[in-house]
Amino acid sequence: MRRYFVGGNWKCNNTLAQTQSLINSVINKLVFDTNKIEVAVAPIFLHLPWVQANIQKNVQLAIQNSSLTKMGAYTGEISVEQVKDFGIPWVILGHSERRQFYGETNEIVGKKTRLALDQQLSVMACVGEKLADRESGQTTNVIQAQLAAIKKELTIEQWSKVVVAYEPVWAIGTGKTASPEQAQEVHAFIRGWLKSQIGTQAEQATRIIYGGSVTEKNAADLIKQPDLDGFLVGGAALKPAFADIVAAANKGR
Ligand code: PEP
Repeated sequence: MRRYFVGGNWKCNNTLAQTQSLINSVINKLVFDTNKIEVAVAPIFLHLPWVQANIQKNVQLAIQNSSLTKMGAYTGEISVEQVKDFGIPWVILGHSERRQFYGETNEIVGKKTRLALDQQLSVMACVGEKLADRESGQTTNVIQAQLAAIKKELTIEQWSKVVVAYEPVWAIGTGKTASPEQAQEVHAFIRGWLKSQIGTQAEQATRIIYGGSVTEKNAADLIKQPDLDGFLVGGAALKPAFADIVAAANKGR
């Protein structure tokens, strides 16, 4: 019932020539069933015009961040109105690197999510615990607080445009993937939270994707988990391995 979703977060990687090569040699060669799976990639802002003009029609575009402020005198920002105006459908918000390096709190992530949804953009909302949280038994408390800050800002209807990305911070860019069981445990918790806090419709329809050192080697095992609806991919999204990850999601459970 839920379409799988695979996002490629390219972070602050690639020169324009490298992005062009990635699009031509990997992204534009992806073959998948759009009835079963959605695919979106997030280049840096500066590369978006070229990518938008040259990417295959089945792959959607995302940006990696949007401003907490609207259009106006806010030097260095890009607002959700401008993202919408440019025809970019997806925004990644709350990524742990934004939280860690740019001071984004749960409240900021909640407010940015509302601004994006008010412009009818779709949001990959990232949540996830640090290693110390996991080791001290705080995983679900941390995730609950991250989700609650988003809930506070949204109407029930707006959840239909949210994909929740569970990304344990200790697994991002480290080569340490959550085991399928560890991922499923948290995904099931998030689905239960959606049921109790938002409603049955959100519980059943919301995609919960996993991110954290997903590769072509572990994707097929992870996707077998019943509450795992796809991936948010960092490092492997810059390589031909991304095609294998999309293929694993396209095959499904
Ligand atoms: C990410 O940054 O969203 C991510 C999951 O990175 P990686 O796949 O490199 O761990």
